Amino acid sequence: MAVDVGGTETKAALFTGSGDDVVAVARQRLATPRTGDGATTADAVVETVAGLVAALGERAGRPVDAVGLVVPGVVDEEAGTGVYSANLGWRDHPFRARLSERVGRPVAFGHDVRAGGLAEVRLGAARGLRDAVVLPIGTGIAAALVVGGRVLAVDGEIGHVDVGHGEPCGCGSTGCVEARASSAAIARRFTARTGRPVAGAADVAALVRAGEKDATVVWREAVDALARGILVLAALLGPRAVVLGGGLALAGDLLVDPLRERLDELTTFHRRPELRLAALGDEAGCLGAALLALDTPEEKR
Ligand SMILES: [Zn+2]
Repeated sequence: MAVDVGGTETKAALFTGSGDDVVAVARQRLATPRTGDGATTADAVVETVAGLVAALGERAGRPVDAVGLVVPGVVDEEAGTGVYSANLGWRDHPFRARLSERVGRPVAFGHDVRAGGLAEVRLGAARGLRDAVVLPIGTGIAAALVVGGRVLAVDGEIGHVDVGHGEPCGCGSTGCVEARASSAAIARRFTARTGRPVAGAADVAALVRAGEKDATVVWREAVDALARGILVLAALLGPRAVVLGGGLALAGDLLVDPLRERLDELTTFHRRPELRLAALGDEAGCLGAALLALDTPEEKR
């Protein structure tokens, strides 16, 4: 059983299989419970997951052997705790212990972006690569760093690397990658420039395709910031590929082609990572949670 808790939506699926061969036999999505404060929200999440374990197990007509749970924010995989979530408000919540006590099954606990990266490496766009970066671009920009075939359990913030454009970021700093290149920034900057409201970056992308001048400038500046962020990753880690995911990657070639071009212009001696589009969409986190549960040693189940 795999559960991916997001800021607004929780996705669950019951998988059968082993190793890298997994098939979903039941799925459910529901709103992430939110209560007054972070601690009670965390308790409500544990209760919701326990309910899903019972419901999906019953629907699929089979017992649940193990549970994989992934959450956003700062996560300590070793301790099994959600250290901090700005969005959902919890601090130092012992998710793994609480949930395993509640459902009487072994629980694997992880970070949503890192689990999604694990899934893209084992089942998706970066399959077979030992060194890659999986970069979901949505409201913010995060990264799962895959080195030597393993996802590093580190809390870096590639979205807040200063790439020199000088504009303020919500984090309080200036010049951050995500202040120009996140989906939210693209929509916000287009509206600031033109006074025209848009529903999101997809609207701006459509205007770029139609040749609209302001949208094209905003898009080009986003691509430049993203290219400079990727160069930092390339300089530090030398990944074979960068897998672009999240809502912005739905722009496809409109994102990949100018990004490849910009990287070629900016790259001097280091190898430009191959750019790929994520293959698993918004299922990546859930699949990653399933892999974490399946990787739990048999004797612990
Ligand atoms: Zn920032």
